[in-house]
Amino acid sequence: MTSPRTYRALGLTLRRSPVREADLLTVVYTREQGKLELLARGAQRLTSKLMGHLEPLTLVRVSVAHGRSMDQITEAEVVDAFPAVKNGYENAARGLYVAELIDGFSALSVANAELFNLAVETLEALGTERNADLALRYFDLQLLRSSGFMPELYICVECGEELEPDRHRFAVGAGGTLCTECGPIDVVVRPLSLPALKLLRLLDRTESVAALPELAVPPPLEREVREALTATLQYWLDRRVRSQEFLETAKFA
Ligand SMILES: [Zn+2]
Repeated sequence: MTSPRTYRALGLTLRRSPVREADLLTVVYTREQGKLELLARGAQRLTSKLMGHLEPLTLVRVSVAHGRSMDQITEAEVVDAFPAVKNGYENAARGLYVAELIDGFSALSVANAELFNLAVETLEALGTERNADLALRYFDLQLLRSSGFMPELYICVECGEELEPDRHRFAVGAGGTLCTECGPIDVVVRPLSLPALKLLRLLDRTESVAALPELAVPPPLEREVREALTATLQYWLDRRVRSQEFLETAKFA
């Protein structure tokens, strides 16, 4: 029988750092309880299996014991190690990007099953033949939605009028699209091409990352959509997305 002092959870490991001589502090995004900081005692010892099981970007089922200052992982079983994500330099950078954003947009112990599923499905998609960058843009937009920061893409956020074709702009600080008549002060307004708006709407309307159509997105359009989404993510995160810069470098390495 499970004692009430322990619980089990399915989680994605986001990062870890050594503490004291043999322990590991791990940050795991769980389906049941959101982000948790958990201690893995003795994980750095050669005899411990926990080290490999708690490698970042691993889907694990953990048994956790309530501790006085911090909960402790007593057992970890790997459900999916996402080998295809870890095998290439570029895909590993994409995986770290997913981990950094899930970490950045989540608070401790706030469950969000939608966000959990989005992270796992995105990592699964990165291991397939599909367009990995498009999968990340889908992740960006759906992360904003799941976190309550979805930008408006259909009407003007100022006057509420439906957008006319090619008569729109985008302002992160205003909450999304604007018509060309409205120009709120104090926000940075950027142009957004009609193909970029259409691609964002497609990402909005697609059921899941696996349901994304196979599209060959021209690089300038990919960059425009990425920059609009990155600006939105950074605005709400209030800092730069470090792994994104790493990813862009990895692509040209
Ligand atoms: Zn307007």
